[in-house]
Amino acid sequence: MEDVVVIGAGLSGLTAARQLQQAGHQVIVIDKSRGLGGRLATRRRGFTAVDHGCRHLQPFSDSTLSFLPALLEAGVLQSWEPEPFTLEAGGSLKAGLPETLYTAPQGMSAVAKALAPGLTIHRQWRATALTPLPQGWRIEGETLSADRQEQLSSIKAKAVVVAIPAPQAAALMDKAAPQNEGLFKLMHQLQNVEFDAVITAMAGYSSDESANLPNQTSRGGWMVGGNSHPILRWAALDSSKRTDPQEPVTVVHSSAVFAANNIDRSDLESVGQELLAAAAGSLASWLGSPTWMQVHRWRYGFVRQPLGSPLLHSPAMPTLVGCGDWCSGGNVEGAIASGYRAAELIATALK
Ligand SMILES: Cc1cc2nc3c(=O)[nH]c(=O)nc-3n(C[C@H](O)[C@H](O)[C@H](O)COP(=O)(O)OP(=O)(O)OC[C@H]3O[C@@H](n4cnc5c(N)ncnc54)[C@H](O)[C@@H]3O)c2cc1C
Repeated sequence: MEDVVVIGAGLSGLTAARQLQQAGHQVIVIDKSRGLGGRLATRRRGFTAVDHGCRHLQPFSDSTLSFLPALLEAGVLQSWEPEPFTLEAGGSLKAGLPETLYTAPQGMSAVAKALAPGLTIHRQWRATALTPLPQGWRIEGETLSADRQEQLSSIKAKAVVVAIPAPQAAALMDKAAPQNEGLFKLMHQLQNVEFDAVITAMAGYSSDESANLPNQTSRGGWMVGGNSHPILRWAALDSSKRTDPQEPVTVVHSSAVFAANNIDRSDLESVGQELLAAAAGSLASWLGSPTWMQVHRWRYGFVRQPLGSPLLHSPAMPTLVGCGDWCSGGNVEGAIASGYRAAELIATALK
């Protein structure tokens, strides 16, 4: 039996795993994806990195949790100074106020990679069910890669950190909850957490293109935010985060309403084209004529209704804890804060 299994290698899971390992526990992290970092995600297209998830980091309000100074010093992060704009409901662009922002020149997943060394991580292993045992937990799952030598079907652990979005965490408890009142209550709390979906279009443009917005005054890239446009939530010149950009690349994130209406469409390419057409109409006409485009859907993108507490736990089940941005905060800082708290709680329970 393992000491601790952490389900999810996003920032909350990696934070919890590192803290528990540093406290002397034997920890295994599992994740269904091939990469690390969850929503801190980077696509590679040749030599081009594109951040299709988390856009940037900001200074943490709780500086005791912050890894920003260490990662800036190591060169994993650098400051990013795009010209900011706000997109208003009617489609007009207003100059915004500059903020202190940090991005990773190699792509935001580099932040997760920087937290992973020394951890035992089983990738492409999807947890499917969590069952309480007299002395711990059984995590059932499935290997998603055909060529994995080790075909694990379940792992037993003294303690479990569930560091995946709340709706996915609730699904793990489906099977055992009807026979276990404590688990049933936790599952119910998870079911009250709500997420907004996001659809993201990534697009490349000819290098001859100016890649600026018409009302831009500087040449260091641009970023457009705002929550009142019916189709667009955020867009930026992603290539302005790179030290040696090969071509102009943009990332456009949809509004929650647009994502809700289009998330299950099978013609994802057309959905991406609709997003770019909206960006072309409101921001700059060249955005509608990319040389390539990729689309990603985030079913659990941004937290709409959080748990309202730094982690999910029950005194009746001290060796199970849920953590993630959905607990409180709804961002990277919230995910990390929750991961720290989860590690503290499990370390106490294992004493
Ligand atoms: C488009 C977008 C833009 C964003 N921009 C910003 C931003 O600019 N700044 C900011 O601070 N935050 C931003 N966020 C939010 C930020 O990315 C998240 O708050 C943070 O990354 C959440 O980390 P997490 O560890 O809680 O969850 P996640 O990153 O979602 O990690 C969960 C992990 O669990 C894995 N997993 C899920 N189910 C299973 C299973 N059954 N078995 C095994 N593994 C599983 C997933 O593969 C994933 O790796 C953005 C989010 C999105 C979607």
